[in-house]
Amino acid sequence: MERENVFLSDNDLAFIQIRLLKEKESILAKKKDFDSFCLDKNELSDPLDEASINVQTSHELRFRNREIFFLKKINKSLLKIKEGSYGLCEECGAEITFERLRARPTAELCINCKEEAELGEKNNIFGKTSKSLGKSISEVGITR
Ligand SMILES: [Zn+2]
Repeated sequence: MERENVFLSDNDLAFIQIRLLKEKESILAKKKDFDSFCLDKNELSDPLDEASINVQTSHELRFRNREIFFLKKINKSLLKIKEGSYGLCEECGAEITFERLRARPTAELCINCKEEAELGEKNNIFGKTSKSLGKSISEVGITR
């Protein structure tokens, strides 16, 4: 199969892939800790502490949603590496520089589109970026 992202060498891709896999591993390890912590908490349930537990839980859920969101991005990037489309901007198809990918392996937009998206986000709260974020949050809600 022809790779579309020929501007990246096999070495570049291998480097990115290893980084993504490491990040994924560390998130999964954290998730495991969190799951076992939840079980412990149910056993120790004390009505007097319920309020503080609720605050703690919402913190943890928010943390978890963010981790799951990031995990999905990592999986998507790994899939793109397999398909040979990794490193191409989702918006305009331009090549995302290796420098940028190395700093943010899950980057989906080139620097120009990213800046535009950020500007749009500031000017319009219902812009594209917030819409796609909302979607991933509801997806997370379904899997819980
Ligand atoms: Zn672009």
